[in-house]
Order: sequence, then C-alpha cells, then structure tokens
Amino acid sequence: MASDTKTESNRKLQRLVGQKYVLLDGGSATEMVRIGCKNIDNDPLWSARLLKTNPETVMQVHKNFLLAGSEVLDTASYQASVQGFVDHLGVDHDTALSLIGQSVVLAREACTETGCDAVVAGCVGPYGAVLHDGSEYTGAYAEKITREEACVTCDGERFSDAVRSVVQSDQVLAVGLNCTAPEHVCDLLESVQHLQLQKGVVVKPNSGEQWVRDEGWIPGSGCVSLGNQVKTWVDRGATWIGGCCRVYPDDIAKMKKELDRL
Ligand SMILES: [Zn+2]
Repeated sequence: MASDTKTESNRKLQRLVGQKYVLLDGGSATEMVRIGCKNIDNDPLWSARLLKTNPETVMQVHKNFLLAGSEVLDTASYQASVQGFVDHLGVDHDTALSLIGQSVVLAREACTETGCDAVVAGCVGPYGAVLHDGSEYTGAYAEKITREEACVTCDGERFSDAVRSVVQSDQVLAVGLNCTAPEHVCDLLESVQHLQLQKGVVVKPNSGEQWVRDEGWIPGSGCVSLGNQVKTWVDRGATWIGGCCRVYPDDIAKMKKELDRL
C-alpha cells in the first residue's frame, strides 16, 4: 500500500515536472478566516490548530483551492511542530506526530472528494513560524539581518546564492520564493536569471499586505491584483505559480485564467 502510494505520488510529480506551468494554491489560513474561522492569526499554532479542532474546515479549504484549479496543495502544517502541539494542544508526542501526518490525509481526501488529481506537498514552515512573532517575515530571529538590501533572504544570504545551493540537490524539483510582497518578485526573479535554472521556478507571494503583531494584517504599499502579474512573472522565468498569505481561491482562479491563456 505504502509503495503504491509512493508510485502514485511519483507519477503525479513527473507529470507536473513535464508541464509548462504549474498552478499552486493560496493562503490556507486566509481561506479559513474567509469561511468563518476566528482568531487564527492570533493563535500560536495558527491554522495548524484546526488539524485537531476542525479538520472539516481544513478539508473544505483544500477543496476550495482545488476547485479554483490548484494542482498542488500545501498541507495545513506550516506552523505545526511537535513541541507546539504538546504546549498548545496538550497532546503527547505521538499524538502530535500523528496530527502532522493527518494534514496529508486531509489534503488527499479533498483530492478524492473533488476528483482532482493534485499533488499533496507537505508544508514545513521556517523556524520563525514556530516562534509565532512574525519573525519569519522579517528574519528577526536571525542575527545577520540585512533587510534593506535587495534580493537578500531574511537571514542575510543573497537570494541567488541560496537558490544556487538548493538546486544542486537531485531531490529538488522546483525552487523559488514564498510569502514575499509582490513588488519584490520581479527583482528576485531577475537576480537568478543568470543561473539558467533547469528546474521549476516557484513564485508564491503574499497579497502585499503586512502582518503586524497584535494588529494583524494592515494594508501594505505593494498590493496589486496577482492575476495581472502572472505574465510579468512568467516572462522572468516563473513556472510554478500560486500565492501565500491573503491570497484567496478567487485569486488562484484568476492566475489559472492567465496561465491557460499563456
Ligand atoms: Zn504567507
């Protein structure tokens, strides 16, 4: 059974790798809030709490993105960690692990129920996500932060250097950026063009709004319609396209329209 599942996953991955473009999903927590969940943004487990408390909603969110056209679903485990679940759900170590596994089961069930042949990607947030202080957006958990410089990752590494080291692995199918403001996407893509990447190039920006601790999401300077940006990104090498925070199924549907046209 396990090996059947593995063969099936490999088949789907090979299919995606062979496509000209791949449509990803958007912000899971964003969609959870839209369909009625409250207090997610202030929760130390963020959307991951719902794996235990409201799995039906997790599945509904996956379905909404599938129906918008997403070909890859990120599991609702961005802020999931064994320690986080032990501390904030009061479960033991084994239950915490099994809840993280359950995030994959829910995404697969959403595919089955909608009849969509999507790939399920295990979502693992950066270390800053576990701290629940927004530091994954700023890199404030790292010491050598150099945010002012263009095309530099949150921990101070040049984006192109990070990409160059990651693509060397045979295990990596695609590489790119996640949850950065749309206004930075073109510069970041241009900064890796000289690498002539032979792998998928991921663009998964947020809406351009900014998350501020204790205030939540506030309008940022760079909010744009993401659907309208797709061609600009594709022209600069993007091939796997979706969104992150504050990007809804409607936005994904608009991106699909653009990609179908291209
Ligand atoms: Zn995000």
